[in-house]
Amino acid sequence: MSELKLCQGTRCHTYMTKDRLKGTKENKTYQTRRRSSMYYGSGNFCSMQCYNDWAETFIDRAVDHFGRLTEPKHLTEENAWVKDYDWRTDDDSARHFFLNQITKERRPLTEEQYRDNNYTLNER
Ligand SMILES: [Zn+2]
Repeated sequence: MSELKLCQGTRCHTYMTKDRLKGTKENKTYQTRRRSSMYYGSGNFCSMQCYNDWAETFIDRAVDHFGRLTEPKHLTEENAWVKDYDWRTDDDSARHFFLNQITKERRPLTEEQYRDNNYTLNER
């Protein structure tokens, strides 16, 4: 069995659901959820509620820590590449490509490159 992760929600233990009530007979307490996988916030939260609780508490500090925008970004030809795909009905396979949202140019991608979040044509 894979290792259980704790939900990072700041108030997870305060939601009195049956599955959070843990412990032996007289010592049961509502506890932070533990799961092998979670769907919210890159797998850190058991629910949108817990994700939002965390954000409410920490989002200002997180944005300041990683760099708050001080001026607007601009969409240009150099950073307008997005990944997209066409679904081909003839052989049931996806055809992946980069699409430049400004010039509409397409450049082919392998499926592996499509799934690789670090693979981009955009200038950083
Ligand atoms: Zn939670």
